[in-house]
Amino acid sequence: MASAKEILQSADWKSEKHVPVIEAKDSVKKGETVAVSVTVGKEIAHPNTTEHHIAWVSVYFLPRGEKFALHIARVEFAAHGASTQGPNTSTVYTQSSATGAFKTEKSGTIMAVSFCNIHGLWESSKEIIVE
Ligand code: FE
Repeated sequence: MASAKEILQSADWKSEKHVPVIEAKDSVKKGETVAVSVTVGKEIAHPNTTEHHIAWVSVYFLPRGEKFALHIARVEFAAHGASTQGPNTSTVYTQSSATGAFKTEKSGTIMAVSFCNIHGLWESSKEIIVE
């Protein structure tokens, strides 16, 4: 039986357009708001069409030493060019980039998962230190 671990792909974002790029400070003070932005296709643009697009990203945080990740945010990218005229006719396309924020009292790992409607699930992570 297959496991979900097998469908979560990872790679270097500089050479693979599906990998979510996480941008956040490397270290923050306890209780300080941590601004996080996640972009898919930062170095190499991902297509954004009715047939092929990034549908959503979810952001998680795993406090150091803990077992379960917390779900910080989920963003749906919902405009992919479709209109009453058919696919790729609306001229409006959501860009696969999102910005949010959270607070934590512990250091840990920010994890992002993105979903391409035809290339599946991709992940990346970034460590942050709480001083
Ligand atoms: Fe794709």
